[in-house]
Amino acid sequence: MYDDVPIGWKRAFGKIMLEDYRKVLIRNNYLDEFQWIEVKEKYGTLRLYSYSAPEEVLDLELKYDYISRHICICCGRINVATVTDGWVELLCEDCYNKRILNERERYEKHSKDQEYIYTPYEKFAKKMREIEAIVTYKCYSPENGDYEKKCDYSDTISKIMERQKKLFKKR
Ligand SMILES: [Zn+2]
Repeated sequence: MYDDVPIGWKRAFGKIMLEDYRKVLIRNNYLDEFQWIEVKEKYGTLRLYSYSAPEEVLDLELKYDYISRHICICCGRINVATVTDGWVELLCEDCYNKRILNERERYEKHSKDQEYIYTPYEKFAKKMREIEAIVTYKCYSPENGDYEKKCDYSDTISKIMERQKKLFKKR
């Protein structure tokens, strides 16, 4: 299932995430039983689905859903602008432009008489969101009604930031 994690997210936090899962599963005595039933990108975030896992695992699913939405799915760069134009795959500007170049090349080989039409990256409506170390979730349970749950991701995010320095050294 891990193979289904998109390449950029693997680069940015794949090992960090697996290590996180390992720790949680060992603590819950669930390492041998655990399996993902589905791993995929949906609406720009990483969705990890498991079957009847301990609650702490569900927290991990939320956590990597949150983290992934700040990271380019293709190269793994963090804090990229989020396109809000209904075009939900989260690509940074470089990766988007590379993709357009490839598509144009392919297109022009096959349909020589028609012009390739595309939307320049700057034309998309974008929202810049910095990743936050502490995330508040609105929750509901029958016992407690509506309540807020604060999750502290600072350890994981600082590991990811360390890795970003190695991945994207200025040349
Ligand atoms: Zn990228």
